[in-house]
Amino acid sequence: MQLVCASANPDKVAEIQALLAGVVDLLPRPSEVPDVVEDADTLVGNARLKAAAIVAATGLPAVADDTGLEVDALGGEPGVYTARYAGEGCSYADNRHKMLAELDGVTERGAAFKTVAMIVWPDGSELAVEGVCPGVISIEERGDVGFGYDAIFQPDEGTGLTFAEMTADAKHAISHRGRAFRQLLSELERQSPNGRSSGR
Ligand code: IMP
Repeated sequence: MQLVCASANPDKVAEIQALLAGVVDLLPRPSEVPDVVEDADTLVGNARLKAAAIVAATGLPAVADDTGLEVDALGGEPGVYTARYAGEGCSYADNRHKMLAELDGVTERGAAFKTVAMIVWPDGSELAVEGVCPGVISIEERGDVGFGYDAIFQPDEGTGLTFAEMTADAKHAISHRGRAFRQLLSELERQSPNGRSSGR
């Protein structure tokens, strides 16, 4: 099955490629398609905006994901604003520093990463699933692999390491994105058990 990847973020594309390998032929996002303004107020809404823009531009089915980090002590923020938590144009490091500063002295550090993974087909039909990874925000940055908030997110199901201290495979086994994309594949299999090649 061929799907155009709606993400241009190389960190996310690398993970999505690994998670769909062997089942989906993932085509790169065409560079001429302008960036989508992610102004929906839900993860599923933003995933739909990203995938639908690629379907409109290519006429091919597209896969998108949208991820949010919900922090208990911040009332579930930054959620849908996770990418621009420290302001428009901020870096991954800016976001991590702001999060650690906001939680300075806070002992209740529970949080959850949520990913919506969605396929949109040219006939307008769609499939959306969600993967959740509960954890805590660490006291300080630990580890130097990964991206985004990886160095300050310690999943509950791990061995006490942050995502940035794990191998990619160990992260995929328990991460929000790993869970979402495995569920996406099993839903595709359930809907089309004789092969996932349906272009609809
Ligand atoms: P997006 O809107 O799906 O691109 O994700 C929002 C933001 O969440 C990204 O800019 C990253 O900062 C962060 N993020 C997404 N996925 C991960 C992850 O797997 N680990 C750490 N941070 C992530």
